[in-house]
Amino acid sequence: MIRFHHAYKSFASGTQALCDVSFEIAKGGFVFLTGPSGAGKTTLFKLIAAFDRPTSGFVEVAGSTVADLSAREVPYFRRRIGVVYQDFRLLKDRSVFENVALPLVVRGDSPASIHRRVNELLEQVSLLYKSDRLPTQLSGGEQQRVAIARALVHHPGILIADEPTGNLDGQLSKEIVSLLEKVNAQGTTVF
Ligand code: ADP
Repeated sequence: MIRFHHAYKSFASGTQALCDVSFEIAKGGFVFLTGPSGAGKTTLFKLIAAFDRPTSGFVEVAGSTVADLSAREVPYFRRRIGVVYQDFRLLKDRSVFENVALPLVVRGDSPASIHRRVNELLEQVSLLYKSDRLPTQLSGGEQQRVAIARALVHHPGILIADEPTGNLDGQLSKEIVSLLEKVNAQGTTVF
């Protein structure tokens, strides 16, 4: 579950990005947040993924209060939240397989279990046959599918996608939305 209760976020510049935001998203929900550029969408996502903290008010995500997370707890918390960006943010000098595997390598998983999990995810996003390619050898839609696979690597309960189709044309956007629907149907909350 995601819950905002009278949350505010302002920056040192004086900009108040979020002002008295309250809402709840139940586990398993699929929610679209829309608004003009500068409305505060990215700021809100950063609070959910604990990249930032509210100035005041309360943000609760998957049973944790974001403001109360210690520096030690943040990496463990983030494994429960997958994040996908408009610009994919893949490592350009690593293969598709290596990009998806990286969070598991960092965690210290065994090569056999990494292989199993990465192949399962690449199968899910229909890119197993392109495991050895570099991101630059893929279309934008394929790169976003790799980014979604990487975001799901730790079986997160929540997937946050910040303008995931912003760089894609109509047909590829539809493919990404149907992939997100598939992820949601498997029980992941998608925002
Ligand atoms: P959106 O994602 O809806 O386009 P943002 O959340 O990125 O909006 O930005 C909301 C407002 O907060 C904007 O006015 C933006 O300039 C400001 N803002 C965002 N991040 C920062 C920051 N780190 N420092 C200062 N102002 C910021």
